[in-house]
Amino acid sequence: MTDALPARRLLLVHAHPDDEVTGTGATMAHYVASGAHVTLVTCTLGEEGEIHVPALSRLAAGEADQLGGYRLVELERACAALGVTDVRLLGGAGRYRDSGMMGLPTNDHPRAFWQADVDEAAAHLVQIMQEIQPQIMITYDENGFYGHPDHIQAHRVAMRAAELAGPAAPEKIYWTAMPLSVLREGMAAFRELDDNPFADVEKVEDLPFGHGDDEIAARLDGTDYYQQKVAAMRAHATQIPDNSWLYGIAGDFGGEFMGVEYFRLVKGERGPGEGPHNWESDLFSGLGADRPVIADAAVR
Ligand SMILES: [Zn+2]
Repeated sequence: MTDALPARRLLLVHAHPDDEVTGTGATMAHYVASGAHVTLVTCTLGEEGEIHVPALSRLAAGEADQLGGYRLVELERACAALGVTDVRLLGGAGRYRDSGMMGLPTNDHPRAFWQADVDEAAAHLVQIMQEIQPQIMITYDENGFYGHPDHIQAHRVAMRAAELAGPAAPEKIYWTAMPLSVLREGMAAFRELDDNPFADVEKVEDLPFGHGDDEIAARLDGTDYYQQKVAAMRAHATQIPDNSWLYGIAGDFGGEFMGVEYFRLVKGERGPGEGPHNWESDLFSGLGADRPVIADAAVR
């Protein structure tokens, strides 16, 4: 399979089905459309998620405990909407279980991702890196963007795998991010709405995410793909209710907020950028000649 891979390869490491869409859906669709190979690795099946489809409510962890299998199907449909064909579950589907929110007893489940040995989990990802040889990896920051244990663990595992992968390690690593200026602009725009989802937020600095504009390295304009992103959100119907403010944003502002995604660069050289902050508009920016797939990149 490897010799058939396109020259540009992007790997994303996410915690649960649906995380790929909300933070990086437009980016994935953009790179698929531009001919890059996009590999999504999702670490758990999201068994502990809420269920927003009443007819499916008994799939919940405390009842039939079938939500994970159902979300696997939602994940496949969402990726089909984004055009992503290379979708993998870390260690195989069902290897790691959704840990639930921080501090809950579900954190202690023997298969909870939060309990996983980081090196062992990273070894599964190293294998994928050796196969794909991605130039770029996207994952979360050390706080998992907003503090969910599986997101924090996804961060640890992804970063450890990059250390262990030797010559197969990604040349550039990005963490998902939101610039404070965009949050401020968004808050101001939402204030005009009747159903402002951020009505309780006094200032954007109080949110658990948000970084100064100078800490952001890349602004990926995927506005052409925001409708694919919305379709992928619809595929995660158990997780994103029909009346979600996310659809409100898409309806009120089109691709303006939904289609643009931001990243911090934590490994590799920042390439040429544009605009007042010199943000990269392409994650592959600054990389040398397209990296060939090395036949045997295993660390000896
Ligand atoms: Zn998640």
